[in-house]
Amino acid sequence: MSSLIPTYARKDISFVKGHGAWLWDDNNDKYLDALSGIAVCGLGHAHQGLADTIARQAASLLHTSNLYRIPQQEQLGDKLCAITDMDKVFFANSGAEANEAAIKLARLHGHANKISSPAIIVFNNSFHGRTMATLSATGNAAAHQGYDPLVPGFIHAPYDDLHAVEQLCQQHPNISAIFAEPVQGEGGIRVPSANFIPGLRALCDQYNLLLMLDEVQSGNARTGQWFAFQHSAITPDVLTTAKGLGNGMPIGACLVKHKARELFAPGAHGSTFGGNPLACAVALEVLNRIEQDALLPHVQQLGDYLLTQFQQALSGHSLVKEVRGLGLMIGIELKQPCPQLVDQALAKKLLLNVTAGSVIRLLPPLIINQDQADRIITTVCDCIDELEHE
Ligand SMILES: *Cc1c(COP(=O)(O)O)cnc(C)c1O
Repeated sequence: MSSLIPTYARKDISFVKGHGAWLWDDNNDKYLDALSGIAVCGLGHAHQGLADTIARQAASLLHTSNLYRIPQQEQLGDKLCAITDMDKVFFANSGAEANEAAIKLARLHGHANKISSPAIIVFNNSFHGRTMATLSATGNAAAHQGYDPLVPGFIHAPYDDLHAVEQLCQQHPNISAIFAEPVQGEGGIRVPSANFIPGLRALCDQYNLLLMLDEVQSGNARTGQWFAFQHSAITPDVLTTAKGLGNGMPIGACLVKHKARELFAPGAHGSTFGGNPLACAVALEVLNRIEQDALLPHVQQLGDYLLTQFQQALSGHSLVKEVRGLGLMIGIELKQPCPQLVDQALAKKLLLNVTAGSVIRLLPPLIINQDQADRIITTVCDCIDELEHE
């Protein structure tokens, strides 16, 4: 490990195999995965259908470049547009790259409307990635530390505060887009009021702005709809996704509609690897499996179950501030920082994560069953009790 630049404070544990929601480490100890590689492996680990797709595609063709047509990319594009009601898609390799495409679209939209220095409204506690532009968009001062000068053109607003956003729209004639997560992930599983995203849509219509939604984490059935914006009746102009789309195969996507539909012309953007046959074949299989296995209602049901069980078990608990979530994106906010909870859970053979300092974040695979959900509930509650008696 000493040859690795220590950008991550890694746990001293490595996994060698998986099956469904289970992982085994190199001592053959078995763990229940309530993190899914950070909302990536929605279909679980070592999925046979995906393994077959990978083997089949690898045996015929991995990469040809975007200088030629790629049927797998066109099929995946059709599928993504069908399930989102978006019009067109650009494929990248990660969430940050999908968001870079969105940020470029916001600049193009501004310039098309004679704004010489367009700006994007972004939100406090947001996370959009680690490239310079997506880092600059991210609403977290700690992530910015040491990276000045940041990319200009981002105006940070409080999340879930339509009034504040409207005031910014009135004050700044150079705004060209609003960029938001419909549920904030890294920021602590913050679910906004039901009128927040529709309210942003209305402001974007009123001020001729692009509504750009970052569903890198909340997309691909994670919240019980294909995409979290579908819990409301609106459609965005730009939609980005990545994480769960490839179940571990790196892929990102930036979808467009409405005012954003015709902004990219040939030569305006690109990627060598983006949308290659292997990544697209796998992502298409992921979406087909989510559909065939009826995972949207399953996620709704298990998500509701986990949320209500946690709320019951933890109501009035002296350490617990709030239990919240949407589908299988669940956060338990404690009244104190709780980084040690990750190790407590690890000792009980459960993988989870703590984000924003004091929020226990649960992102189990979409395929978890009732027994596994019960095990997550019991273990997490035990960990919180332990913390209380420390
Ligand atoms: C993880 C994440 C990203 C960044 O994705 P990468 O694939 O790590 O570049 C961007 N936005 C959101 C909401 C995310 O959760």
